[in-house]
Amino acid sequence: MPATKAVPAWTGALLDNKKKGVYYCSCCGVDLFSSSSKFDSGSGWPSFYDVMKDKDVSRLPAVDIKQDRSYGMTRTEVLCGKCSSHLGHVFNDGPQPTGLRYCINSVSLKFKADKGGTSNGGGNNNKNNL
Ligand SMILES: [Zn+2]
Repeated sequence: MPATKAVPAWTGALLDNKKKGVYYCSCCGVDLFSSSSKFDSGSGWPSFYDVMKDKDVSRLPAVDIKQDRSYGMTRTEVLCGKCSSHLGHVFNDGPQPTGLRYCINSVSLKFKADKGGTSNGGGNNNKNNL
């Protein structure tokens, strides 16, 4: 077994992804970010200025945030609103209209392209290209 693990090819693909669709939690599959709020922050991380709404409670965002005081600095951690897996961090230097920058680990997200007219999901029919 090789001890080192190469960066999965889709990490870069996700970063440069300009397709329309939805980014969802790689752990539980809940929709988190829309491609329409993705922007190029130049950070090397997939970045979003807004988050999708919770499917069940529409006034809530699909993510949870929590203060992270590790490493002697205060950052705001972004967690999946459903399974609480770590997604990344959110900063206050993003573009309008929110002014937020969700800086998300590519490994925490998976992407499903918007093919149009995929009304009711049920679709974990994505190719598993791990
Ligand atoms: Zn999740």
